[in-house]
Amino acid sequence: MFSRQKYVTPLELYEAALNACQTLYVANGGSRHDTWKVRPYPETAAISCSTYGTVKNWLLFMPAFDPNTLLPRWKAELIAAYTVHELLHTLWTDFDAVKQSTIAGIHSLVNALEDNRIEYRAIKGDLVNVSEASQLLQMLNAYIWDRDSKKPGFDLANPNSFAFALNLVIFHERHKYVSNFPKDWRKRVRQDMLPMFDLALAEFGKLKSTADCLALAKRLQAMASALPQQPQQPQTDRPQQGRPCPKCE
Ligand SMILES: [Zn+2]
Repeated sequence: MFSRQKYVTPLELYEAALNACQTLYVANGGSRHDTWKVRPYPETAAISCSTYGTVKNWLLFMPAFDPNTLLPRWKAELIAAYTVHELLHTLWTDFDAVKQSTIAGIHSLVNALEDNRIEYRAIKGDLVNVSEASQLLQMLNAYIWDRDSKKPGFDLANPNSFAFALNLVIFHERHKYVSNFPKDWRKRVRQDMLPMFDLALAEFGKLKSTADCLALAKRLQAMASALPQQPQQPQTDRPQQGRPCPKCE
């Protein structure tokens, strides 16, 4: 997907990401009339879509770097992984359902499920022309766990981290991604939330659309609000945690 050079500049990287998206989007059924732009963004990647008539205008946000930096190869691969992940959102995420999830206050939870759903499709072969997709997505998952689990105060048992924890649990249990995510996660999460993890794992294979993710998230939200003490909102938004989300405009 990207050149094999040892070091690359951010501009080369953004250009490669944009070209990859445009080409792979059309190769995977996206309209060639839709437009693409890339823009730097603090710390992470994201994707947004604005629609004019039948044309979708995609805005791909990539982590911002000083333009004169030379980025090592592993970082270029990480950007490639982010790019593949965002591409999956453009192909398979229903942005109207994302909007509804924001209105319902469960955006993070829906996005956690949606990230699992779209990556599962990709690694099972629904994404064409990206032979290294599963390798890149697995690397991204391992990187995110290593980065976010080291943040001060991080605790898998914190109900406010439920969406993030659930996202990682499904990657671990269903996608079988290799990472440092603890195999004994069941002992580390809040025990009265275990039935919520189990419901999501049991239902995961049935998720065929973003709307399905929204429906499952509502069931999980109802279970969370029936728990003895709080948490009212286990899905509390944490923009710097986990995978990048689709942005609504
Ligand atoms: Zn995502």
